[in-house]
Amino acid sequence: MNNSTGILMVEAIELIKRYDNIYLVSHVQPDGDNIGSTLALAKAIEKFKGGIKVIKVDDIPSDYQFLPGIDMIKNYDINEPIDLLISLDSSDLNRLGLGKEFARKAKRVINIDHHITNDNFGDINIVSPSSAATGEIVYEFIKKMAVDIDKDIATCLYTAISTDTGSFIYSNTTYKTHLIVAELLKVGIDVETININLYQNRSMARTKLFIDSMNSLETYLEGKVGVIAVTQEMLKAYDAKMEDTEGLISFVRGIDSIEVACLLKEIDKNEVKVSLRSKKRIDVSRICNKFNGGGHIRAAGCTINERLPVTKDIILEEILMNFR
Ligand code: 5GP
Ligand code: MN
Repeated sequence: MNNSTGILMVEAIELIKRYDNIYLVSHVQPDGDNIGSTLALAKAIEKFKGGIKVIKVDDIPSDYQFLPGIDMIKNYDINEPIDLLISLDSSDLNRLGLGKEFARKAKRVINIDHHITNDNFGDINIVSPSSAATGEIVYEFIKKMAVDIDKDIATCLYTAISTDTGSFIYSNTTYKTHLIVAELLKVGIDVETININLYQNRSMARTKLFIDSMNSLETYLEGKVGVIAVTQEMLKAYDAKMEDTEGLISFVRGIDSIEVACLLKEIDKNEVKVSLRSKKRIDVSRICNKFNGGGHIRAAGCTINERLPVTKDIILEEILMNFR
């Protein structure tokens, strides 16, 4: 976070004080940082002045149903008055799904995010690529609001930061990450239960999908690149959902020779969601940016509107070019 971040936060808090109809939103295909940081800020604004609304733009994966305040995420009518929209963890407006319409209608938009590919779509842009998770920025924001971080808020922030750092092992993890998490633990959150909910709660359906998709592993460049795919047929076979692919790509990156791991998720016949991870060398956000996606240096994604085998060729070619 740089020096101007504090000033931007004060300006954002002034807008929160001034406006009545305030909405929070995050990106589609929600993850732990997205949901955790959104609920934490929602609960803090609730304590600060009340009346906050959290827009549901996609289904919430079962992993995060345990989070306090999860029922705050609801469907809202775009025809209601909207003064202020706060977007969290989203690098551009398109990632917000129907939240984009709320952003268009709002008098002001605050953009809080940590993606290096963020396009500064807000009126106030609190964008900090050096933060491991949006949850870290929200922690500082809540401190600036002078709202007490209670157990519920701390549970949401811990979830946000833990999931976006792969339980504090990814390269985005800094000493600040640990300092913030130490403060969260001081509040007395039940870390054991949170971690069981997040990491030791895999369904049998997800496990079977895991085994099957690992069998689809193909490697290139002497094992430096690994590709796996999950098709709609596989989901049907195990009665699993696309959210059950969580953890697959990390496992592929965990192979010793792998530098870039690629997961292809068949959303539809002509729509494939691509996830990329790298270990040490390749900037995968650059690769995904080429296809109108984005993310971070070591974790990024994009959507390609082609059939699965065609998508595989397109993305593989781009990945392999980056090794030259
Ligand atoms: P994942 O592979 O888990 O979906 O995403 C990895 C990272 O890239 C996350 O930070 C996520 O927000 C970002 N990301 C994934 N897909 C997209 C996309 O289509 N557009 C943008 N801008 N970012 C994405
Ligand atoms: Mn994030």
